[in-house]
Amino acid sequence: MALQDPIPPGAIDPVSLAQALIRCPSVTPADEGALDVLARALEGIGFSCQRLRFEEDGTPPVDNLYARIGTAGPVFCYAGHTDVVPVGDAAAWSIDPFAAEIHDGVLYGRGAVDMKSSIASFAAAAQAYIAEASTLPGSIVLLITGDEEGPAINGTKKMLDWMAARGETIDACVVGEPTNPTKLGEMVKIGRRGSLTGRLTVHGAQGHVAYPHLADNPIHRLVRMLAPLSKTYIDEGSDYFQPSSVQVTTVDVGNPATNVVPAQARATFNIRFNDLWTSTKLEAWLRQIFDEGLGSDGGSYELKCSISGESFLTEPGWFSDLLQDAVEKVTGLRPELSTTGGTSDARFIRAVCPVAEFGLVGQTMHKVDERVAVEDIRKLADIFKTVLTAFFARTGTGR
Ligand SMILES: [Zn+2]
Repeated sequence: MALQDPIPPGAIDPVSLAQALIRCPSVTPADEGALDVLARALEGIGFSCQRLRFEEDGTPPVDNLYARIGTAGPVFCYAGHTDVVPVGDAAAWSIDPFAAEIHDGVLYGRGAVDMKSSIASFAAAAQAYIAEASTLPGSIVLLITGDEEGPAINGTKKMLDWMAARGETIDACVVGEPTNPTKLGEMVKIGRRGSLTGRLTVHGAQGHVAYPHLADNPIHRLVRMLAPLSKTYIDEGSDYFQPSSVQVTTVDVGNPATNVVPAQARATFNIRFNDLWTSTKLEAWLRQIFDEGLGSDGGSYELKCSISGESFLTEPGWFSDLLQDAVEKVTGLRPELSTTGGTSDARFIRAVCPVAEFGLVGQTMHKVDERVAVEDIRKLADIFKTVLTAFFARTGTGR
């Protein structure tokens, strides 16, 4: 699209915008004005913003923001969230978690790292890129949810459905989650492990411990069934993934008596799995193990599996190269391509286009005294601007 002349005013300072966002105490699912602050900044540089409110039975309604500039393709997308986790022990913070104060070049506050400063950096990058370009050879989209730290039901997933229903597509996406372990520039994430939580209930027959032939002990069966899971790693990893790991998180019998065999025993476990597995394959494998552990002398079990995401990988290629080049140009470090860590909204976006994650240093996320170096915020804005320039230079025709 041709940009209006003069270029829309209102240069975005990423640090001031990050502070304004942190001052909205948007603990999931509350918004507290965070999306308005962002929408105002984006509208000031020519984006059109739509507020999308989604709800579903059993979950709180959530506000989300869809912002777009341009009408043509290709479309570059930035995805993020304005919600934050609770402050935890407020008295343990050395600075008010929603004051967004800067001390010795470090910005403190809940969301400073995860991930309001990243959103502010992208907004500043978009403004700087647009101000420099004579035409915008495509479109820039921001998908900002208020439901990432919560159930993640009324957020990115529903926004993607909303876009699909309107025929809106995106061609590449950066999720701005914190990805660097200790230093800006260390790590780009190109995939994530999947997560399966299993709830196992083993049934037996209650009875007197002195008359075991009249009882059927489900605990003995449960122990046999869980034994194969206690080896922690269930494969050796793959090209871009660490080994899949399993952790038993609770074993419950709830039996106060020492002379009674209980009727039931329960356990819960979580598996973080790599791309050698799908949740279906994993569940079939679990049932095979549990059938063997159960034995053939009676008893039964139930297994309920819930999946919070399948594993996924954006194969290294043009998009990961582009990100690595941009990060290296600004920081001097060539980031490692990694798939470590928990799940993120990238698990939904990967169905739509190549997606990778890059953001700030994650060391203090979700902790007391969450904080980020102001210099890192400015560098991240530089990196995002370099990404936009490279993306549109690669595919754009309008320059
Ligand atoms: Zn986050």
